[in-house]
Amino acid sequence: MTIPRLSTISLALLFSVQALNASAARSLTVNVYIHDDLADMQDAQLHNDYFEHWLKEMRRFTDHPIEVIFQRNVPLITDIAYAGMPSSQILEVFTDGIHEKTRHSPFSFVDKHLLLTRDSYDRSGWNYNAGLAYTKQNTAISSIAAYGAPAHEIGHMLGATHEDAELKFNGWVCETYTHPRVTARSNCYRYSDKNRATIADYLKYNSK
Ligand SMILES: [Zn+2]
Repeated sequence: MTIPRLSTISLALLFSVQALNASAARSLTVNVYIHDDLADMQDAQLHNDYFEHWLKEMRRFTDHPIEVIFQRNVPLITDIAYAGMPSSQILEVFTDGIHEKTRHSPFSFVDKHLLLTRDSYDRSGWNYNAGLAYTKQNTAISSIAAYGAPAHEIGHMLGATHEDAELKFNGWVCETYTHPRVTARSNCYRYSDKNRATIADYLKYNSK
């Protein structure tokens, strides 16, 4: 049996389309699960206060495609009863929920998942923890207690470290996103040059 010529052409075209897709960089996708305790805050407000400055910063050093996707009312994820739980446990419970939710999807190191909550964690006296992430992995938790907290934790998921964070001067002394301590200093709303390079490399090597 001979294969009609038309089929051959179709197969060739199909192949070239797939080859083109395979060579294109996969988007960095940040899925933000908005905890039910933030039901009174609109997506637009959360985006403006916590993610717009981060996207602006990412655009300064990478042209990698980025998507931020807000998700609400996700059972076993946005309703985690985290009050009083240590941050490490909240992150574990959230990560289990994400594994369960994504178990039928292909795994990618550029599919990130962030649980956004109203309250901070591990509170004792004046100290608190605004977020926690698995370094170079896909899950993190962040409170809205600090405007830079989601960017700090997203940075860790992309390989940024406390050690490479800096103090800078922008009129006042400011801290770059992954500076380890929450202090009265202002936020620079950017990563340090070293962390920018680390994040750019991470995206380059993990998005094929
Ligand atoms: Zn940190």
